[in-house]
Amino acid sequence: LRVLGIETSCDETSAAVVEGHRDDVALRSLVILSQDVHRLFGGVVPELASRAHLTSVVPVVRRALDDAGVGVRDLDAVAVTHAPGLVGALLVGVSYGKALAHAAGVPLVGAHHMEGHLFATALEHADATPPFTALLVSGGHTLLLDVAAWGDYRLLGATRDDAAGEAFDKVAKLLGLPYPGGRHIERLARTGTPDRHRFARPMVRANQTPADADYYDVSFSGLKTAVLHAVRRAEAEGADALDAERPHLARGFQDALIETLVEKTYRAARAFDRRRVVLGGGVACNGALVAAMRRRLEPRGATVFAPTPRLATDNAAMIARAGLFRLERGETADLSLNAYATLPMPGLVDERRTGRA
Ligand code: ATP
Ligand code: MG
Ligand code: FE
Repeated sequence: LRVLGIETSCDETSAAVVEGHRDDVALRSLVILSQDVHRLFGGVVPELASRAHLTSVVPVVRRALDDAGVGVRDLDAVAVTHAPGLVGALLVGVSYGKALAHAAGVPLVGAHHMEGHLFATALEHADATPPFTALLVSGGHTLLLDVAAWGDYRLLGATRDDAAGEAFDKVAKLLGLPYPGGRHIERLARTGTPDRHRFARPMVRANQTPADADYYDVSFSGLKTAVLHAVRRAEAEGADALDAERPHLARGFQDALIETLVEKTYRAARAFDRRRVVLGGGVACNGALVAAMRRRLEPRGATVFAPTPRLATDNAAMIARAGLFRLERGETADLSLNAYATLPMPGLVDERRTGRA
């Protein structure tokens, strides 16, 4: 089966072609166009995102088909992200995907963006297949899942406030770094001294048990506030003092966030006796996170799989891959396919004790 994927949920216009069956799927082409305009505003401006998708989606798709050496009639389906994301941005991809599928006479598949992030790593690592524990850490989501099989997801934990990527971006802003700030924090933290700022690890306590509502959940807004106060203290001693402190603040923040994510992921892998841990989402680009995950899990017999940066951040390869899975299950859409800002992942059972996702 050969599937074209289209992704326009946020500020990347992307198209890709994948080909294969079941867990034997190869990436044939991938084009990602990142919108630059948002940098001027320190965050994604929805209206500008929609407009930029409108001008790029046609050439991006054409280029992905050309790179794969196929035409629309060689496709078995067109998969398009229809949720979650910015509705205006999603609608550009959904409308174009519908038109293309209709014109070519091939099935249309609505793909869930977070299921896409879950499938990304499998395109690069043949063993990143279920059963596994998954941690999806992106700009808008922090999801800890147990994946018994593709399409069979238990939500164990999530963030109670800021997503992991959002926390990186907000702290980057506090430290005067450009948007999106995750990779800038990572770079700055490399020269920071560990424990010079030791921030509390949110929702991690020694005596927690799975019966506790926050056993798997995370929360990062308190950590962000703690960094803010530390920035203010440094600032009070002058601009030079703050400048000298920035790497240490970045390091303290990143270490606290990583240790929290690693502890929660470890708990999930142990509880379900999983031997594989799959990371996904833009924050999975973070080398310190991946290294810490390996240090904690590999001595206990679990293998940690992380995608390379182009498949960790938003891309259409993961959408084509998730779409291929849904196509094989016969889950195609018709021209009434709609876009949604939020939508639970298909096949997801919410097992969080708080009962809200
Ligand atoms: P969602 O998938 O929840 O809709 P999104 O699509 O905007 O959100 P992604 O593209 O998956 O998110 O990831 C973007 C996020 O990843 C940003 O918050 C960015 O700061 C973060 N990020 C990218 N590289 C790194 C890094 N090296 N370290 C930490 N965070 C990073
Ligand atoms: Mg983006
Ligand atoms: Fe994403």
